[in-house]
Amino acid sequence: MTEYRDLTFFTYSDSKWVFASGFPYIMLSVGWLGSTVPVADPLKPDAKKSLLYNLSLFIQHPVNLCRGIHICEICGCEPRLDSDKSWLGSGEIFIHGPNNLLYAAPTMIYHYVQEHDYVPPIDFIKSACHPPSMATYSQFAEAEAAYYKRG
Ligand SMILES: [Zn+2]
Repeated sequence: MTEYRDLTFFTYSDSKWVFASGFPYIMLSVGWLGSTVPVADPLKPDAKKSLLYNLSLFIQHPVNLCRGIHICEICGCEPRLDSDKSWLGSGEIFIHGPNNLLYAAPTMIYHYVQEHDYVPPIDFIKSACHPPSMATYSQFAEAEAAYYKRG
């Protein structure tokens, strides 16, 4: 898995479709861990449960899907989403933050939070748990589909 520090500018995938959507997003990376988990105070069980639940909703609509499965470089497993057993590690989720921020995270972030006690930046957690709306989120998948249909 490609590794980026949290809240650095996101440059990993080809996301021309995001910019073609006409909104001046500033894309920031979250959860691109590589083989180490940043040290942080652990989330309280309720907060962790809430974050995992909300991440699972986003993961049902991944973008920038690629072929193949990434294994977790921390524990060596091939992680799956426990609710429906779908594989993690082959797509990304985009979460609309405050103003025009857009957080780009690998779907693997679910596994990092669940199994490795990764604590994402607080604004990411707030945005994941209280997104403007899931309708807004599904627009990302629609914008991606429209862009590639046109191209
Ligand atoms: Zn792992």
